Amino acid sequence: MSKLMESDSSDDDILYSTNSISNDNLSDEENEPPRKMARESASSVPKLLKYDGFDHWPMFVSAVNNTRCKNEQCSGKTYWKCSKCNVHLCLHSNRNCFTQYHINK
Ligand SMILES: [Zn+2]
Ligand SMILES: [Zn+2]
Repeated sequence: MSKLMESDSSDDDILYSTNSISNDNLSDEENEPPRKMARESASSVPKLLKYDGFDHWPMFVSAVNNTRCKNEQCSGKTYWKCSKCNVHLCLHSNRNCFTQYHINK
């Protein structure tokens, strides 16, 4: 019986530490409820971070389904996302939302 309870609490620990790791990148959002983190939105990325031009690397997400691009003028879908902003962005030779998204217009 006590073994069962132990495994329950360690599961909670894993969930909690996963959340705090992703929050480290977005220090402005430390107090936001985790529910908001699950839904990506362009406005959730602080401008200071989004336009700092440092450490924004494209990351290929090997998911089953591609995800809606978060660039404002784009409704395309992509498997690429920014490792720092944690938002999905197109990365094609003819449509480079990744670069556009990080330029302060
Ligand atoms: Zn970025
Ligand atoms: Zn796009």
